[in-house]
Amino acid sequence: MTEQDSFSLLQDNAKAEAQRSQRSLKEYERTLADKIDSLGLICRAMWELVRGLYNLSDEDLLNKVQEIDLSDGKLDGKVKVKPKKCSKCGRPLSRRRMRCLYCGSWEFLDSAFDTL
Ligand SMILES: [Zn+2]
Repeated sequence: MTEQDSFSLLQDNAKAEAQRSQRSLKEYERTLADKIDSLGLICRAMWELVRGLYNLSDEDLLNKVQEIDLSDGKLDGKVKVKPKKCSKCGRPLSRRRMRCLYCGSWEFLDSAFDTL
């Protein structure tokens, strides 16, 4: 095998790997889109159940969404939660863990939504 053949083989392998990665990314995007669609459907079903149970209106829901959206100071369709600090060492806590990465202290979340 010549040096040129080796180089061509490496290039072909790199192209194949890039194509596999691109396919994998597109599959992941489709999976996320499907999950978002499912979550929207579930949220809508829950809202219709709650609306009926408590005699609420769509305006009530929109007002609550706006109130929560504004809780971080910006009306932007998102809620940014400031990272909680460890009660023992004061360093920022990861949203994915209930234990401080620095000192090992166990911390409790204020809300289930703090993990998002
Ligand atoms: Zn800590």
